[in-house]
Amino acid sequence: ILKFKGYDNRNDVECYRQKKLYVTRENAVELAENEYFIADLIGLRAITEDGETLGKITDVIHTGANDVYVIEGEGGEEILLPAIRECVKKVEIAEGRQEKDMKFHIMTLFPDMVMQGLDTSIIGRAREKGLLSIETVNIRDYTTNKHKKVDDYPYGGGWGCVMMAQPLKSCLDDIMSTANDRKSRVIYMSPQGKPYDQQTARRLRDEYDHLVLVCGHYEGIDERFIEQCVDEEISIGDFVLTGGEIAAMAVADSVCRLVPGVLSDEECFTGESHWDGVLEYPQYTRPENWRGREVPEVLLSGHHA
Ligand code: SAH
Repeated sequence: ILKFKGYDNRNDVECYRQKKLYVTRENAVELAENEYFIADLIGLRAITEDGETLGKITDVIHTGANDVYVIEGEGGEEILLPAIRECVKKVEIAEGRQEKDMKFHIMTLFPDMVMQGLDTSIIGRAREKGLLSIETVNIRDYTTNKHKKVDDYPYGGGWGCVMMAQPLKSCLDDIMSTANDRKSRVIYMSPQGKPYDQQTARRLRDEYDHLVLVCGHYEGIDERFIEQCVDEEISIGDFVLTGGEIAAMAVADSVCRLVPGVLSDEECFTGESHWDGVLEYPQYTRPENWRGREVPEVLLSGHHA
C-alpha cells in the first residue's frame, strides 16, 4: 500500500486509479542483497559457466514462487531461466548495465495529447521497464497571470497570438531544477529549425541524456525565450503544424527506439533505413503467395545478406 504525502483519505487518490506511477532512481527504494531492479536486468548478457553466451535478458516474469528471466537467444529463440540460486550463479549489473537512461521533458499546453501518443506499444513498454522516462509539463501551470493566459497579441500586428516568454521560462527553470548533473539539451520544435533526420536522432541519443522538447502553439513563441534558453531548433519538415506536439512526439519516438534495450537488438535499427545512408530492402511476411505475387526467392532461403 502506498501513502501519498498530502493526501489523507482514499477518495482524494481515486483519480490515480488505473494510472501508472513512476519513481525516479534517486527516490527508489533501497535494494537488499541479491535484489535488482528489472530495468537493470534487461539488456544484460546471459553467459553459461563455460563462458558461452546464451542471449540477452529481455524481460522478467513474476510467478507466485520465483521470478523468471526471459532470455532471447542468439537465434531469436526464447529461453526461460528461473531466477533461483541453482540456475543463476552471479548477476553483475555494473558491467553490463545500460549506460543510457534517457530522460525527456516535453513542455506543452496539451500534455494528454503527447502522453497518449507515447504511452503505447514499444515506447510505452520501454517506459514501463524503466529504460527511459518521458514526462510532460503543462506550460499553463506556470503562468503568473490570474486568467492563466499563456499568449498575447504580437507586437507589430499580424494574425494570431504568440506564447509569452515568462510561463515558458518558469516552466523550464522548474524542469532544470530536477536535472542534476544530466547532460541536457533544450530543443524548440519549429518550422524554422534545422530539418530533422536519423543522424540528428543518433546525435541526440549519443550526446545527451536529458532532452527538453518545447512545443509552441498558435503563432509560435516569443523570440526572446528562444534567444535566452533554447540550444537548438528542430523542424520535422517544410510544412506548418498547429503545434509542436506532433513534432516532439516524432523526435521522442525516434530517439527512444535507439536507446539500448528498447528494441530487442541493436540490429533492429542498424540495418534499417537511414542508418548508414541507405534504405532498407522491401519487407514481406506470410503468405508466400499473395494474390499471385510471390515473395522474392532470395528471401525464402534464409541465407540472404
Ligand atoms: N508562425 C510560425 C508557425 C507557428 S506554428 C511560423 O510561421 O514559423 C505553431 C507551432 O507549431 C510552432 O511554435 C512550433 O512549435 C510548431 N511547429 C509547426 N510546424 C512545425 C514543424 N514543421 N516542425 C516542428 N514544429 C513545428
